[in-house]
Amino acid sequence: MTSRVALVTGGTGGIGTAICKKLADMGHKVATNYRNEEKAQAWKTQMQADGYPITLVKGDVTSPEDAETIVRTIEQQLGPVDILINNAGITRDTTFHRMTSQQWGEVVNTNLNSVFNMTRPVIEGMRERKWGRIIQISSINGLKGQYGQANYAAAKAGMHGFTISLARENAKLGITVNTVSPGYVATDMVMAVPEEVRAKIAADIPTGRLGKPEEIAYAVAFLVDDQAAWITGSNLDINGGHHMGW
Ligand code: NDP
Repeated sequence: MTSRVALVTGGTGGIGTAICKKLADMGHKVATNYRNEEKAQAWKTQMQADGYPITLVKGDVTSPEDAETIVRTIEQQLGPVDILINNAGITRDTTFHRMTSQQWGEVVNTNLNSVFNMTRPVIEGMRERKWGRIIQISSINGLKGQYGQANYAAAKAGMHGFTISLARENAKLGITVNTVSPGYVATDMVMAVPEEVRAKIAADIPTGRLGKPEEIAYAVAFLVDDQAAWITGSNLDINGGHHMGW
């Protein structure tokens, strides 16, 4: 397997950490961005202790300037970015009739506009080198909608619209573009939901439990592999059977 440079946005979070580790286990050189210096250093120390020398670059995915800087810094330190995992995301849940334009804007900027910001600086190089893997981490709620998440569901559904357009534009150039849509995974994002609500969610999932970050990372590794060259424009649902469709 060829060792490549992979950029995972939001790598310090629950799912991002598992993706960073999995891609490193595959032999790739992995980098991520961060915003908070203290949190990033603690994360880096833990990753090093676990045997993962992940490269960290400061930058906010909602800023096109930061995104450009993140990519160019990684290029200088590790080489051209061949794998991009657009994973950074947030929620600002509330019913739409109470939603402020700030709650709407933060979620759309972080989950969707970030995908433009991060992909734009890597796509030309991938096209020149005729190889690339771009994966959007969307959500079950972008597919089925969710009470209190009009902002999040709109942004997550938009990610897949981006995927299927970019997949078409770049299919002949060895670049695949796919979406992974996790169901509820036990990370800080979901642990912030009240316990009784989480228990109800778990009871609703046919497998009877929340997902593990490693189960999402496994799907990312599958799509990144050289052998997945004919999978493009796809959405891969990973949700314990919580939402089934075809
Ligand atoms: P976490 O909250 O654990 O991690 C989110 C990561 O994104 C953090 O590293 C965070 O960094 C980073 N981030 C957020 N905003 C920005 C920003 N503006 N610039 C740079 N980095 C940013 O979330 P999860 O690991 O649970 O989620 C990862 C992805 O998976 C998200 O896109 C989420 O929507 C999606 N998802 C999660 C599900 C779940 O059940 N957990 C279900 C379906 C989808 P910082 O520490 O600086 O905030």
